[in-house]
Amino acid sequence: MNGSIWEKPGSIAEAFWKNGHADFPIYDMHGHMGPHYAIYMKRCEAPEMVAHMKRIGVRRLVFSHHQALFGGMRNAEVAEICKQFPDILRMYVSINPHYPEWIKEDLEKFDQWAPYAVGLKILADYHKVKVTDKPYEKALRFADERGLPVLFHTWGGSPYNGGPALLETALKYSKMKLFLGHSLYGDEEYSKRVVAETPGNVWLELTAIPGDRGHIERLVKAVGSERILYGTDFPWFDEYQAVGGVVSAKITEDDMRNILYRNAERILGKDW
Ligand SMILES: [Zn+2]
Repeated sequence: MNGSIWEKPGSIAEAFWKNGHADFPIYDMHGHMGPHYAIYMKRCEAPEMVAHMKRIGVRRLVFSHHQALFGGMRNAEVAEICKQFPDILRMYVSINPHYPEWIKEDLEKFDQWAPYAVGLKILADYHKVKVTDKPYEKALRFADERGLPVLFHTWGGSPYNGGPALLETALKYSKMKLFLGHSLYGDEEYSKRVVAETPGNVWLELTAIPGDRGHIERLVKAVGSERILYGTDFPWFDEYQAVGGVVSAKITEDDMRNILYRNAERILGKDW
């Protein structure tokens, strides 16, 4: 084997492959929980997910529960799950634009869910309502007033959450912290533009990208590692695969540290 990591004794990659976990905290900023009809997941409930994340050294997972996104569970119940694993689980409050009453109620309860609720999740492609449309306004204003993170599912070319809609949203809500889930996959021109043309309130999130050779390198070159967050869609994809993709990328170790934990700590602090 000629793995380049073995040519770098003492590297992050070498330590990761040898020990099976990182020697620094990892913050996974894009997770889910619960079964989903589209895929079989070996471990998708909190106890097994937490055990797996502890093996690799994930300090925090911020997730939105599938049933809170698609029906069957309210955000209040997700907060109860977080309370069972307070040292690792944090949640995005799922925003379903088809249930305005739920949005209103959940935003009123947001503060009761501290420290577990750290922001909001918007899944426009699946709910078929464009991010700039009225049903999201109340939630986005709430996040903007408080400077909260909002994880948007984004995808290049999507009419609901593609580049132009995210650029417009980031300019309109300049205090909100926009995490672009999947980094507008497939539209790297807009990944770059949305970061470059906004006032420092946008980060690209990596879900789906670590398995795509050369993609992390291009994003780091385009926007700088300070604007990139680690995320996985766990339990859809595995933490080991995604961390492996980051530490195997041809970027500096400073870049890896920014992506895997420093940026999350800069945004949310070390104690959350
Ligand atoms: Zn996701």
